[in-house]
Amino acid sequence: MDEDKAKLVKIIISVACVVIAVVLFFVFNGSSGGSGKVDINTKYILCDAEECGASQKFTKEEYYDFLRESGVDPRTAQYAALPCPECGEETAYKANKCPKCQTIFLYDPEAEDYKDRCPNPDCGYSWEEERIRNLK
Ligand SMILES: [Zn+2]
Ligand SMILES: [Zn+2]
Repeated sequence: MDEDKAKLVKIIISVACVVIAVVLFFVFNGSSGGSGKVDINTKYILCDAEECGASQKFTKEEYYDFLRESGVDPRTAQYAALPCPECGEETAYKANKCPKCQTIFLYDPEAEDYKDRCPNPDCGYSWEEERIRNLK
């Protein structure tokens, strides 16, 4: 009888441990914002040419080297036409990568909405919107 009880306690403890681990995992992920975090050290450009549409990933250093080599002032690079590494045309622009669904897209300078709003209809995430919401 006592042995059975000890076994039961052991089972309860191990189940509790798993539950705690799962809870901690979600709490940790939620508070650190791991899934929706923007990686500011990775830059993307996306070619706007219909027949190309190539995207390129850069580290921050590579990106600024690329701008310098392309003769583009980093301060005005947000909407500047950049040479596409794929097709060679100056139809590439600084792009944004959705931290939720990983879609790479161009900022819309005319958007009345948050300009980093993800164009994926199943997503629509905006890091900027979330940041402002969290400030309130
Ligand atoms: Zn291209
Ligand atoms: Zn998205």
